[in-house]
Amino acid sequence: MSKNIDWSNLGFGYIETDKRFVSNYKDGAWDEGALIDDPMVTMSECACVLQYAQTCFEGLKAYTTEDGRIVCFRPDLNAQRMADTCKRLEMPEFPEDRFVQAVVDTVKANADYVPPFGSGATLYIRPYMFGSNAVIGVKPADEYQFRVFTTPVGPYFKGGAKPIVIRVSDFDRAAPHGTGHIKAGLNYAMSLHAIVDAHDKGYAENMYLDAATRTKVEETGGANFIFITKDGKLVTPKSDSILPSITRRSLMVVAEKYLGMTVEHREVYFDEVKDFAECGLCGTAAVISPVGRIDDHGKEICFPSGMDEMGPVTKKLYDTLTGIQMGKIEAPEGWIKEIK
Ligand SMILES: *Cc1c(COP(=O)(O)O)cnc(C)c1O
Repeated sequence: MSKNIDWSNLGFGYIETDKRFVSNYKDGAWDEGALIDDPMVTMSECACVLQYAQTCFEGLKAYTTEDGRIVCFRPDLNAQRMADTCKRLEMPEFPEDRFVQAVVDTVKANADYVPPFGSGATLYIRPYMFGSNAVIGVKPADEYQFRVFTTPVGPYFKGGAKPIVIRVSDFDRAAPHGTGHIKAGLNYAMSLHAIVDAHDKGYAENMYLDAATRTKVEETGGANFIFITKDGKLVTPKSDSILPSITRRSLMVVAEKYLGMTVEHREVYFDEVKDFAECGLCGTAAVISPVGRIDDHGKEICFPSGMDEMGPVTKKLYDTLTGIQMGKIEAPEGWIKEIK
């Protein structure tokens, strides 16, 4: 039985669901893990995560397809990305097949919270890991917890996707050879001041440039950029300090294989941005948020697609990818993981 939730008015906030998956790492091995009821985490006051931020996470969504199946999108890539993140943070990898199984089991156990097809709402899935034992001298923890919880979230765009206004940030997100390419909480802690400041000044997001030269486009705090050229190519920035978005990687395939577009994954100079026809931010939460205007210290870049709706090519990309996700358009092999 679906829960009695007003799906279309849900926001993006935490709502506790019935079950969460927990597995503990101790003496060099992961235990078998279990689905539990208790949403609280208890650990040492000196846990490595609390003192030295040894933690990472993933994010994906489960949703109901048109024909009533509960599915999620490319969870194997989240498993892989978390394994890459763990290596960089000296954390033990949670085996990728077990990661996917934990996602499936947690969603199944909370199936009543998966919003119905057409509501625009989804069940957000948050796998994460942290160093849990006491560490005071700086070193990695010896004990870890891997957890997966779910929380229903509302449609990202209520009443259609309106283009947003963003600004070029004076803060940097990620250093060359740093941690910009991994999904770690530490990349978010230092972005909080920048986003609060951006919101205070009326901007929806920060565009971060490369920290070394401040000439190349990186990403926002939590989404990769896509640009459409005036002759209809998809251009998306390449850099070792950008987080490899699964949405962006999927859009590159959709553009090339479904829409016959030319795709360029390369360094993008900020100077070129004014010449693009359309701009969007891509990530799991919104799939694509259209950008209408970028403010660069008083200079404005206004995209020809305007402030009223998504640009036409962005819209095609959006419709095709969401069509694949919802089961209306045939998906490439392995993209849709059936849960129930
Ligand atoms: C999670 C994240 C994204 C989006 O990745 P998806 O896999 O598409 O959800 C982009 N940038 C950053 C910094 C992120 O943490």
